Amino acid sequence: MIILIKKGADEAQVENLKALLRSRNIEPHVSHGSLQTLIGCVGDVAHLDPSLIEALDVVESVQRIQEPYKAANRKFHPEDTAIDCSGVKIGAGHFGVIAGPCSVESEEQIVGIAKSVKASGASMLRGGAFKPRTSPYAFQGLGAEGLRMLSVAKRETGLPIVTELMDFKDIELFNDVDVIQIGARNMQNFNLLKEVGSYTKKPVLLKRGMSATIQELLMSAEYIMASGNPNVILCERGIRTFETSLRNTLDLGVVPLLHRLSHLPVVVDPSHATGYAYMVDPVAVAATAIGADGLIIEVHNDPPHARCDGVQSQTPEMFAKTMARVCKVREIVSV
Ligand code: PEP
Ligand code: MN
Repeated sequence: MIILIKKGADEAQVENLKALLRSRNIEPHVSHGSLQTLIGCVGDVAHLDPSLIEALDVVESVQRIQEPYKAANRKFHPEDTAIDCSGVKIGAGHFGVIAGPCSVESEEQIVGIAKSVKASGASMLRGGAFKPRTSPYAFQGLGAEGLRMLSVAKRETGLPIVTELMDFKDIELFNDVDVIQIGARNMQNFNLLKEVGSYTKKPVLLKRGMSATIQELLMSAEYIMASGNPNVILCERGIRTFETSLRNTLDLGVVPLLHRLSHLPVVVDPSHATGYAYMVDPVAVAATAIGADGLIIEVHNDPPHARCDGVQSQTPEMFAKTMARVCKVREIVSV
């Protein structure tokens, strides 16, 4: 952190600032330029709030030179991290595709979809049992019954299951769940992040909030990691912009950006990012080409009658074609 001191600042106040820094175990290194004085802070500034320093009379501005996230930061962990999801790895060269319906609707539905996506090469099964819906009148998911059906599909296919946890009170129902999804709407539910981080080391698929910056996404990953769970997979699922012709705006450039800033794997969700089934295939291919470590794709046996997100759901046949194209692109980009 670098503190820029105002011109003509009162020396006694600058000394007070230096004493304040020392009291926080930070060594101030002062350099007097011809125009301005700077204080370089040496030490752990993670617990120092820059806005408190900026509010001081003698301070012109404060510049952070290190990101506020440590556990998620590539600087402190140069190697890519592979996350082990009950035997299926994602990251560090391992590519994984999570596929399944937006929500679990019946045992027959989830088992049928699980079998077909597995046959096409999916490595994990998704399906929401607790659904965050914009309308309180919309289908809210089958809850515990939905989780039971997911377990049946897991037993029948061997696919690890990924499903969303909305409320920590339900965590004990998640014993058979392999990857806990934290949805876009809960990305900054800090209590939920801390609870999940301290309760379990199960992988967490953390979806980017609808209007979250990349630093906010990484700080949310940091919450989980700092609480004790290092197994976080980041998910770009589109953000809200001025554009309304798609459900969201896919921020594909964040894939290489996140890879630069963090060692954690990055998965892309082309279903929620676009909102239309016909776009899922080209966007999945593009996400693979740009270097994503995996995809999460909504697949439904009967999209027009889906209880949630039918418009963006691929049929199993569409998914099979997408898998084939994604595999070809992987061959090219993984060299
Ligand atoms: C979902 O995966 O079905 C979902 C609700 O996603 P998001 O949190 O990204 O909107
Ligand atoms: Mn959905």
